[in-house]
Amino acid sequence: MSVVSIVKCGDYEQKRIDRAVKESLSLIGGLDRVVKAGQKVLLKVNMLNADPPEKAVTTHPALLRSVIRAVKEVKGEVIVGEAPGIAYKDIEKAWHVTGLKKAAKEEGAKVINFHKVERIDNSQNKQVPVLHLAGEVLGSDVVISLPKLKTHNFTLFTGAIKNLYGCIPGFHKKELHRLVPRPEDFARLMIDIFAVIKPDLAIMDGVVGMEGDGPAAGPPRKIGVVLASQDLVALDAVASHIIGYAPFDIDITRVAAERGLGEGKLEKIEIKGAPLSEAKIEGYQLASSINTLLNKVPGFVLFAFRHLAPWVLKIKPVIDKDRCTKCEECIGHCPTEAMKMGKDCPIIDNKRCIKCFCCQEFCLERAVGIKYNWLAKRFQI
Ligand code: SF4
Ligand code: SF4
Repeated sequence: MSVVSIVKCGDYEQKRIDRAVKESLSLIGGLDRVVKAGQKVLLKVNMLNADPPEKAVTTHPALLRSVIRAVKEVKGEVIVGEAPGIAYKDIEKAWHVTGLKKAAKEEGAKVINFHKVERIDNSQNKQVPVLHLAGEVLGSDVVISLPKLKTHNFTLFTGAIKNLYGCIPGFHKKELHRLVPRPEDFARLMIDIFAVIKPDLAIMDGVVGMEGDGPAAGPPRKIGVVLASQDLVALDAVASHIIGYAPFDIDITRVAAERGLGEGKLEKIEIKGAPLSEAKIEGYQLASSINTLLNKVPGFVLFAFRHLAPWVLKIKPVIDKDRCTKCEECIGHCPTEAMKMGKDCPIIDNKRCIKCFCCQEFCLERAVGIKYNWLAKRFQI
């Protein structure tokens, strides 16, 4: 039976989070079951962009410190890595602003930006027959995913499995959004990636998560938990339930469970530590569920809506020109080249826009919002 540990932790005070991480690992059988002395252990943090820890966009550096300490205790060689979708020149800034590099260095871990690309045959997936994954990840003895618990306007929820999207080096990520615009197809792609990497463990930062417009533009929200599991599907199922989703509302969890890569049914998951009923929080602001709806609409109907009667169901990114600094980050990340700079801020060609919300994800000024018409609002629940 899959086991997920839930440990209550109210803040990021280092001693408290050290204890929480240790306990979460001990409840699932101890880290020495996963890491052997001398093994190369890759810690995949979630470092989306250059946001400070208090914005709850990225894995908190205190949690990273605790995990490095735990891995060193069992004599693993620690490497902390990431490949955020931001421009290469900005990655160093992100390591700095998030506090992740400082934490890693002070704890004696190596920090790397993934750049080696390995081509993996994925021909069972017609949309993406070849995966480009980080050689640094595939070459590690042990991979541990360290996600932040957040909502996500495209996938609804981002956790242990979605965190692996950052194992695609450079701008391949952007291309994939263009190739796979439907959320359910994107979930299948994520599970292809997950099946290749097969992380050994995930430890989730759910002390302060993000609600609403995740993964980057929502407000932080205290959840007060650290979760750990060797079954990433089970961990995501539990985490999404804590914030108010039914686990199979999340395409990534459902597809992973269908493919037999882990357990997604709560009744078949053994919870150790705090009971699920105590960890669950009420009134969490979920992400827009418009993408769930779009999954259920047949392709030809969607085509008709988008091209013949786009006013029927409208959800679109909008730019707040007063906040925009014209940095062009969003333009660089738009996978369909739907954006170009206007007089005061970028202009979006709604015919080309696939509603991936990468523009919102990468705007550090929080100048990209989402606009819904009345029908779209109705389905947002
Ligand atoms: S919307 Fe945001 S990312 Fe885009 S140009 Fe303006 S400030 Fe930069
Ligand atoms: S405009 Fe924004 S939401 Fe639309 S395709 Fe480009 S990045 Fe995605």
